Order: sequence, then C-alpha cells, then structure tokens
Amino acid sequence: MAEQPFLNTYGRLPIVFEHGRGPWLYDVDGNRYFDTFSGIAVCGLGHAHPAVAEAISEQAGRLVHCSNLFHATQQQKLAHRLCGVSGMDGVFFANSGSEANEAAIKLARLYGHQRGVHSPSILVMDRSFHGRTLATLTATGNRRVQAGFEPLVSGFVRAPFNDLDAISAIARSNHSIVAVMLEPVQGEGGVNIADPAWLQGIREICDHHGWLMMLDEVQTGNGRTGAYFAYQSYGVLPDVVTTAKGLGNGVPIGACLARGVAAQTFQPGHHGSTFGGGALACAAANAVIETIRDEDLAERARQLGERIRDRLQRIFQGVDYIREIRGMGLMIGIELSAPCAELVPLAKTQGLLLNVVAERVIRLLPPLTLSDEEADLLVDQLTRVIKLYAADDRQT
Ligand code: PLP
Repeated sequence: MAEQPFLNTYGRLPIVFEHGRGPWLYDVDGNRYFDTFSGIAVCGLGHAHPAVAEAISEQAGRLVHCSNLFHATQQQKLAHRLCGVSGMDGVFFANSGSEANEAAIKLARLYGHQRGVHSPSILVMDRSFHGRTLATLTATGNRRVQAGFEPLVSGFVRAPFNDLDAISAIARSNHSIVAVMLEPVQGEGGVNIADPAWLQGIREICDHHGWLMMLDEVQTGNGRTGAYFAYQSYGVLPDVVTTAKGLGNGVPIGACLARGVAAQTFQPGHHGSTFGGGALACAAANAVIETIRDEDLAERARQLGERIRDRLQRIFQGVDYIREIRGMGLMIGIELSAPCAELVPLAKTQGLLLNVVAERVIRLLPPLTLSDEEADLLVDQLTRVIKLYAADDRQT
C-alpha cells in the first residue's frame, strides 16, 4: 500500500489541518497558517463561520435529505434568493462547479436541438477552466489538463479571451454555435479580467445570433468580485449563470441558473441529481447569502481588494520581477516575470498558504470577512515572502 492511501491526484504539501477560523488554518501540531486563497475561493466567509455552522447543525436535526421528486423548504428558500440576487427565473441544483457547468452544457445542447440545429456547439475561451468531468474538461482551454484523457467530447469551438473580432468572425462562419460559455474573470487561467466592451459585445452577438450567453461564475460569484455576480459590474445580463465554490462556504453545492427561453428548455426527465440541492447544503447556502447581504460583503470585497492591490502596487512599483498586479474585488493576481511555483513551499515555512496559477501568477482569494488589519498582515507577509524568494533566486 502507498505511504498515504490516496490515489495520486494532488501534489499535496505535507501539512495536516485540524481546524480553522476566519482566514486561519491550524495544523495538528498547533501551527497557524494564513490561508490566502480560502480553499480556492470556497470559504468566502472564512473557515468555520458560525452562521454556517449553526445553520447546518440546526438543519441536521430537522431534515438532511428528501428526493428531488418533492419540494423541501430550504431548497425553495434558496431558489427564491438566488433568482432574486441574479435576475434569473429558475435554478437547477448540483453538488459542484463541474456539475453546474455540465447542466449548462446540456441545457445549451437541448436548446440548440429545439431550434433545429443538428449538431450544436458551444463557443469557449482559451485559458478557461470549467471543471474536470469530460464535457467540462473539453470546454476548459488548457491542453495540459486535457492531455491523456482523449477522446474528448465533441461540440466545442475555442476563441481567444478578450478578442471580439475573433468571436465576430466565428459567428459569421460557424452556424452550429448555440451558446458561448466563459468566466468573467478567469481564475485558473491566471486572473484574466474580461474587458467591459468585450463582454458587452458578446451580449450583442448572442442577441443577434440567438446564442445563449452562459457565464461560469463558479469562482467569481457569491460576492467575491465586488458584486454578488461579476456580470452585475459589467451591466450585462446573461441567459445562464453557474456558480458553486463560495455558495456553501465549504458545504458542496452548485447551481445552474437560467432566465427567459433558457429557463424553459429543460422538461422533466432531461436532467437530475440525487444529492443536488440537499437540505443541509441549501441551509448552509441560505446562511451564506444572508450573511453576504446583511454584512454587505460584496462591497467589502471591493474595498478590501482595492486596499490590498493599492498597497502591493506601491510596494512593488518599478520592481523588475513583478510584471503586473491586477484584480477585481478579492480576486487578485500578482504576475511575476518568471515561473514561481517554488514560492509555495517557501511561503509555507513563513506561515502563509499561497496558490500559484498559470505558472507565474500568485492568486489571492482571501475571505470577504477579513478585517483591515488582517488584509494588511496578508500584504506584509506576502511581501516578505516574495522578497525572500527574489533574493534567493538571484543568488542561484
Ligand atoms: N469553473 C470554474 C471557473 C472553476 O474555477 C472551477 C474550479 O476551480 C470549476 C468550474 C469546477 O468546480 P468544481 O471543482 O467544484 O467541480
């Protein structure tokens, strides 16, 4: 048997966590670490938030599961709340971001067939990330994560991110496309932010060609970018939105929301999930939405994001190994001029949990509940680690 009885899917650091609180994680030896990416944008309210803990424990004593062949109160409540905050008409509940996107992909294909498109395809972006199931892996614009899993799924066409001319050209020549799927801020791809004119232009192209505009807000949703959903800062309304991650603050739940004609597409029997929208997960998500609303956490994310970016930009202004510091709310990318994966183990020795994406981008996704002092501490600790790393790098 292997030293640790796991299939080898993650390159894990050798730390065993036992509990957490806010931005902090504590290992079995009692060491404290600053989690700068919240379990990859999952614990937007911080670890072990009391409102979520209370909602789960109360719900566990009332109802944990009932079949989706019936309604349940927590699920109904969450559906109304999510439609209220998103401007959508209906929701399908899943258990993860990949599953929410699978639902969106199936919805788009069905929509295409209902409009008489024989072999419908979906336009997706370079450097995107939509999940690890076969359809979402195919939609993902990263050859490295796809390699070895061929044959992939057919029916996807790819375009460069933030390039409206490319999408207009594809729209003119490819009549099989029925939908476009994209992240308003690409997370795994390196914190790449959509230009407002590009997103608005895509909305117009979708209207013109009858395509569904489907936004993957699995990572950007639930207050992280400064609005409940990122598209609300762009002044566009999509036809389909998916979300997950921060929705349950760590309790697995995903959602595929749709409006208008897209909301009319599925009929009974087309799609389903045994566990999707379970009572415990919905109770957690209801507590999350209430907390985001009551504490105005989307606005707080906007302010904290500005505070962190401004300080980092001032500290690293003119420094040659930092190429760019960018972000939207509390989704922040610090792009270095060279690959920097070695920063992660170094940061760990300093009590900081860091995440590097696209080889050279430090991605910060801290909780929306940070105090100003914690935000400043994050910047101070990160600055120290980056400077240590740069000094080490220069000596070797
Ligand atoms: N979509 C986006 C934008 C993501 O960032 C992720 C996960 O990182 C997913 C989808 C997949 O979500 P999950 O891991 O919950 O299946």
